[in-house]
Amino acid sequence: MKRYNGVIERYRKYLPVSSKTPVVSLHEGNTPLIFAPKISGALGSNFKVYLKYEGLNPTGSFKDRGMTVAISKAKEQGARAVICASTGNTSASAAAFSAKGNLKCLVVIPEGAIALGKLAQALIHNARVIAIRGNFDQALKIVLEISQNYPVKLVNSINPFRIEGQKTASFEICDYLGRAPDFHCLPVGNAGNITAYWKGYKEYYCHRKIKQLPKMLGFQAKGSAPIVKGYAIKNPKTIATAIKIGNPASWKQAVSARDESKGLIKAVSDAQILSAYKFLSQKEGVFVEPASAASIAGLFMLESEGFFSNLKNKRKEIVIVCTLTGHGLKDPQIAIKSIKHPPVVEASTSTVVKTARI
Ligand SMILES: *Cc1c(COP(=O)(O)O)cnc(C)c1O
Repeated sequence: MKRYNGVIERYRKYLPVSSKTPVVSLHEGNTPLIFAPKISGALGSNFKVYLKYEGLNPTGSFKDRGMTVAISKAKEQGARAVICASTGNTSASAAAFSAKGNLKCLVVIPEGAIALGKLAQALIHNARVIAIRGNFDQALKIVLEISQNYPVKLVNSINPFRIEGQKTASFEICDYLGRAPDFHCLPVGNAGNITAYWKGYKEYYCHRKIKQLPKMLGFQAKGSAPIVKGYAIKNPKTIATAIKIGNPASWKQAVSARDESKGLIKAVSDAQILSAYKFLSQKEGVFVEPASAASIAGLFMLESEGFFSNLKNKRKEIVIVCTLTGHGLKDPQIAIKSIKHPPVVEASTSTVVKTARI
């Protein structure tokens, strides 16, 4: 069997690379598609729900798929430094791939709005991290301006190479299932990922690798749902910091993905996100960061609204894939805050037995 060497090697013929491209890879991609029996059961006996667990990428989020292409192309084009704005995961990924590829990495983040694990990653990989007194949208505007005036490559998802790399997640899903899913659920922040998945599915369809396209079901957080509302949000709010974005860069492309696929983009509340977050960790054994749980929160919301009712209990199997974008360890503080703290008791066997209710 051929060894796995990352998404560029695996899907080279679908990507804008040549034999001259210096590939910078951390063996990203090839993440598991985990069958979720309890979520499936909640929908109906003919439903099969799978979790695309992107938290198992090398830096713990799907951003690595795009970053391997963006960083490799930046090197091919002679760049010495890259820059990004980030709600956390882009900076973690950019910092790691820059370290591997010997590039300088500059990161602009909104002060106090980055989960602890992500900040730790950017710092330990030696990125130059600057926090601004402002939000992600302002940070993105600043790095865009800098990249237009200084010799640094922008590696946010407005960089088309990011989208190219991220579309490989669709390829993996189709290759694994032998078909496209009927529905694909994912969280929507800056909207690069929904753009990338839809592009991937369409390309596989054009190459006759799949016979049908999925409906794209995107979910924003209620306090930062510009696409749902139809206008930019000045002060986006949500506990799901990775999708706390008021003016998505790929807004138009996300709307196209929604409309072309006859899907939808809806909003879920922080309470719904936290409840799905706990369901995933406690019933399916999969620990994700809050933003990732928006996929499942959205799926449960649609189910409760009767969205799937005319597909239920038919002979036809309905396949749903939910992308879980990032690992739960990214944001340990949220986990600790959202559950009861463990009791502290005296160091005796009998007390521990009593307290544990064995
Ligand atoms: C970046 C990110 C998102 C949002 O993806 P977009 O491409 O910005 O829509 C969601 N979840 C996690 C964990 C992320 O890192």
